[in-house]
Order: sequence, then structure tokens, then C-alpha cells
Amino acid sequence: MYLIANGKVITRDPAMPYIENGGVAVKGTEIIELGETAALKAKYPDAEFVDAKGMVIMPAFINIHSHIYSALARGLSIKGHNPTNFYEILDGMWWAIDRRLTLEGTKYSAYTTFIDSIKTGCTTLFDHHASYAEIPGSLFEIEKVAKELGVRACLCYEVSDRDGEEKCNQAIKENGDFIRHCAKENDPMIKAMFGGHALFTISDKTFEKMVKENNGMTGFHIHVSEGLNDVYDSALNYGTRSVNRLLNHGILGPKTMLGHCIHLNAAEMDIIKETGTMVCNNPESNMGNAVGCAPVLQMIQKGITVGLGTDSYTFDMLESLKVALIIQRHNACMPNVAWCEVTDMLFKNNPKICAQYFDQPLGVLKPGAAADVIVMDYKTFTPFGADNIDGHMIFGMTGRQCETTMCNGKLLMKDRKLLCCDEEEINAKTMEAAKDLWGRINA
Ligand SMILES: [Zn+2]
Repeated sequence: MYLIANGKVITRDPAMPYIENGGVAVKGTEIIELGETAALKAKYPDAEFVDAKGMVIMPAFINIHSHIYSALARGLSIKGHNPTNFYEILDGMWWAIDRRLTLEGTKYSAYTTFIDSIKTGCTTLFDHHASYAEIPGSLFEIEKVAKELGVRACLCYEVSDRDGEEKCNQAIKENGDFIRHCAKENDPMIKAMFGGHALFTISDKTFEKMVKENNGMTGFHIHVSEGLNDVYDSALNYGTRSVNRLLNHGILGPKTMLGHCIHLNAAEMDIIKETGTMVCNNPESNMGNAVGCAPVLQMIQKGITVGLGTDSYTFDMLESLKVALIIQRHNACMPNVAWCEVTDMLFKNNPKICAQYFDQPLGVLKPGAAADVIVMDYKTFTPFGADNIDGHMIFGMTGRQCETTMCNGKLLMKDRKLLCCDEEEINAKTMEAAKDLWGRINA
């Protein structure tokens, strides 16, 4: 049993949002009590005491859209790659990587993604993976790493026609195999979705195969209208809009999550709302790819559950939060919009999206919630309390200030030192995997 206390506690529980000097008592995988430090210490004298030293104790972050396959790209320069549009970014960069990503490459990509997430206080990831060099077993490889490190993950494989029918069939089977495996294992930490790349690389025949393989077992996770090319493809080749095409194939529903949704019209938003489908926004990635600004304010106004991901542009959810706010304000030419929407996305909607897949409540510190708790080294020099927490999150705090990370009642990092693995050893092996991958890309 643990007592993480002697800190300023942000709970994200409306019943008791803030405790000035308090903590959480953790037993097994869940939180059993919150309260004042002195009272908890008196009640649980035998618990292992994790001293927050006056820092901020809060729920661990949730990232609802990442790509493990992109992890080894940091610092990579591909010869002759100078993209002038979104398609060229995919083809010249991301597909060049995933076509050469072996199981070994996938494994080390998973390590770095999860380690960086743990170090920025994020313990739950919804990942969308592709490794077209070696597809079979890749989700199982990622699962092994997630279990070894002790993080929570909801995984899927990115089905696409881009590398031919045989690879596409392998990708469909990888989803099916992993979904059935998760259903059988029923591990509370590992869940599965059915992944699809994007409409413009998925034919009607492939959608039919995906739906058949999934057989209603789980929801879909797919990129939608990220670039205008997706909109043109649906219009020119299928005579419809992207979301209508998904609706016609039976892809939408309360367990399905659509990535980006930048170029939607009002009718498509209505369909998303009516089917209870979820959306994830990835503001930094959208700006980096110059694909536009998602209509987040309109979607939320319509009652669509929009959550916040990173697209692996960063693993720091607070960085993503800051950019989510400023892109919306910049786009609207209004300096007073989006505050509540973006903080709701990260702190309310991401936990809501998790609830579709994970049984224990996440993103909140309250009795019965999963013991996913972080301690942030955030020194306050202006008033700090229940009424202005988000102002501190947006303008003061960054993920790198995470000192201690607990997931499912297990300490993964304490005082900035990883307890779940030998970081130096993994980094050294990852370096070899990256050099091997880069060498093959630029050969
Ligand atoms: Zn993505």
C-alpha cells in the first residue's frame, strides 16, 4: 500500500476538486481514499510514504492518439524528401519508415514511446500502429513492452491498401488476432481497437473485409479528413463525403474514434453526433502538416465527444493542450474562445473515451479510480487553487516537470528515475535499432 501525500492535490473530481496539503492512499491497483496529509498518515501508518514535498499531485495524463511507428524518426533526415503537401509527407516520410519497420524496430519504438510518456506523466495511450515490413505479431510485440513497463494501452493496426492486397490482409488479420487475444485475456491494462489508415487508402472491398473480421467485437480507430485529399478522394471516387462513406460501411458508433476530422461539413458533424462516434484532435500535428484547423468548437457545440491526442508529435499532453488552445483562438480570430473546450478535451473527454474501453475510472483521483497518479515539480509563486488550476496548467506547467509516475498502483518513475526499466540500456539498444532503420531508409 502507498500513501502519496504532502502535496497540493488536484483531483478532477467535482465533489472535491482540490486539497491544499493532502494526498491519496493507494491499495492494490486503485485509490481508496483522499484527504489531508496528517489524517492519512495517522490512518495508514504502515503504507509506503511517497513524499510529494509540497509539489502537485494529480491524475496521470491520457493520450488518445499516438503512433508508435514514428518513434525512431527523431532527428532523421531522408535524402531527397522535401514535401510540399500532406500526401508527400505520408509517402516520403511515414510510409518510408513503416515499410522498413521490423518487429525489432517496432519493439524499440514502443519502448521509447512508453518511456517518454511515463516521463511526462502519461500512463494511458491509444496507439495506431503500422510496420508494413513485418506486420504479423507487431501488436503483440507492443503489448509485451507495455506490460513490461506497466503502462495502459489500447492498440490497433493501421489497415491500408497502400502496399497491396497481401499486406492489407495481414494488417486486417493482425487486428482480428489481437482483438480476440485481448477478449480472451481480459487484461484490464491492454485493450484493442480495429485500426484503419484513412479513407483514401482503403477501398470499399477492404472496408467490407475489416467489418467482417471485426464482427462487432470492438470500435474502429481511423484518420478522417485530415487532408483535403481525403475529401477529394471520397467525392471523386465514391461520390460521397468521408463520414457518409464510413456510415455506409457501418464503421461509426460509440466505440469508434475518428482522428483529426478537419475538413468536415455540418451534415458530417451531425452524423458523428447521431452515431455517438468519438473524435480526437491533434493540434500540433495538424499545424506541422499544414492541413488546417479542426472545427473543434463547432463539434463540441454539437455535443460530439472530442478528446486530445498528440499524433506522436510530442508525448507531453500539456504541450498539446497549450497548442490546442492557441490554434483555436488564432483560427477564430477571437482571443476569448476555446478555454473550456480544450481543458474539457484533456481532462473530461479523454477519461470519457477511456471509459469505452477500460473498466476502472481514469483521469480522476477519487476512491475506486485507477491508481494512475503523478507528482509534478511545480512551484507556485501566484495564488493556486480550485478556481484557477487550468490557468496554471496552460501557462505554467509542462510534462517534463513530472517527478513521479504511478500506473495501476505501481511506481514506474520516482524522483525522475525510472523504476520500470533500465533506461540507459534500452536507449543504447534503441540507438542501434534507429541506426539500422535510418541506414535502410537512406540506402
Ligand atoms: Zn495519426
